[in-house]
Amino acid sequence: PPDSPPPSHTATVAGVPVDTRHWIGGERVASSTASASVTSTASASATFTDHSPIDGAPLAEIARGGVAEARAAVVAARDAFPAWAATPPAERARLLHAVADGVEARTEDLAAVETADNGALLRSHRHGVMPRVAHNLRYFADRLLALAHDDFETRGHTNHVSWDPAGPAVLITPWNAPLMLASWKIAPALAAGSTVVLKPAEWTPLTASLFADIAHEAGLSAGVFNVVQGYGAEVGEPLVADPDIRRISFTGSVPTARRIAAASAAHLVPCSFELGGKSPLLVFADADLELAADLAVEQFDNAGQVCLAATRILVEESVRDAFLGHFLDRVTKLTQGDPRDEATDVGPNIHPRHVERVDGFVRRALDAGAKAVTGGGRNTALGGNYYLPTLLTDVAQHSEIVREEVFGPVLTLQTFPDGDEDEAVRLANGTRFGLAATLATGDRERADRVSARLVAGTVWVNCFFVRDLSAPFGGSRDSGIGREGGDWSFDFYCDLKNTVTAP
Ligand code: NAD
Repeated sequence: PPDSPPPSHTATVAGVPVDTRHWIGGERVASSTASASVTSTASASATFTDHSPIDGAPLAEIARGGVAEARAAVVAARDAFPAWAATPPAERARLLHAVADGVEARTEDLAAVETADNGALLRSHRHGVMPRVAHNLRYFADRLLALAHDDFETRGHTNHVSWDPAGPAVLITPWNAPLMLASWKIAPALAAGSTVVLKPAEWTPLTASLFADIAHEAGLSAGVFNVVQGYGAEVGEPLVADPDIRRISFTGSVPTARRIAAASAAHLVPCSFELGGKSPLLVFADADLELAADLAVEQFDNAGQVCLAATRILVEESVRDAFLGHFLDRVTKLTQGDPRDEATDVGPNIHPRHVERVDGFVRRALDAGAKAVTGGGRNTALGGNYYLPTLLTDVAQHSEIVREEVFGPVLTLQTFPDGDEDEAVRLANGTRFGLAATLATGDRERADRVSARLVAGTVWVNCFFVRDLSAPFGGSRDSGIGREGGDWSFDFYCDLKNTVTAP
């Protein structure tokens, strides 16, 4: 009946009911108070509150996992593994397409819930992100069926190379693009025949729960796909230390990656790490400066919370002012506001603590002599988590603002002397990251020359964020270990086997 209160494990977010419990072994599971390692003395609760970054409103009480839930999910994935690994590839692919159908059927729900939970633009969730989630599932389903099973001869013996599923995989994801980043891992892991335990970020737990419903309805057997909710320190740590897992794929920050690498060492579990960045945008004097300015302004997408964002603009001295003029023209036309509004270009940042961190970087840079050409603080008209799109000049190469990832709508601008390509490359490579780089230049030969010298997993020439799933994706140095995409994803989630047969 409509007047009876909903059960406490269901929240209604943006009009969509979401089960806020874990999804383990094909069942909804709440956290018992005893099992969650509760640190707060105020209330020994087995849930935590999820808030919306749009207005700070509480959205849902989420099951707070601990050691017991981590173990239960790994055992479920371990027990489901033999049957899933033995499922013929064509059947695994069919099921992944069925999950993709489910994602497409629920695009509106997923988009609305994701926007409420992480504050990214509703229109981009509707038209870009959620269709892409479905595409990711379909791509890896099809790729599975196209995997090359090499056969070749050695002195009359045949070698047969097969891609054997590696075993249960733990997937840990951040909050900036929750379901999108999860799907880049879930799709190849399941396609490869591995079973999955997904641990979404505690600030954005909701779409993972909806995805569990979709996967179940599409026909995935119990234990093939599991979701545990909670904090990294409470449920993430026991997951990555569990002896029964065979792969860890992690997207997030460098300090967390170090902790996961240390934990995984105990059982020699292979890790794939997609980490932070501090990518450059190189603007040469021969560039189309209107295009260069478009590329620069694109870096405010998702309120700057994009690992690939080219946050360091490096511009050739003689075109600095012209470039800056085009850039500022565009920034003044940006609309900041509620991400559910079609007209909004820049929404809120994820969390008051994160905004505090972003602002700390900017304050310290300003104290050290930087100048804010635009922005430089919170958007006081909007309040809450809204931070103004910011560009800082007069920044030194060795300064914190140039070297550390801010993960907010904050760009820096430096110049290099006219004609000094070496200096441009030196500045571009001058951080401990190596995720991506973007070049704006009208000279193809220069583009080739400079690209070859950049330390980056992806280089974009006169474009940004164009990503084909067949291409390798990942970072060098502190930006990560390993590559995802195409067969590289299967390489990670499989144990390759060579069977040699005598004549
Ligand atoms: P984070 O490292 O704080 O958290 C990421 C995930 O790890 C969360 O789910 C968290 O709960 C979990 N976690 C935390 N401590 C853990 C532990 N000890 N053991 C196991 N799991 C633990 O990162 P974040 O702040 O959520 O995400 C932002 C970072 O992610 C940025 O550095 C950004 O650049 C990076 N990122 C990288 C990519 C990429 O593809 N390279 C994409 C998006 C974001």
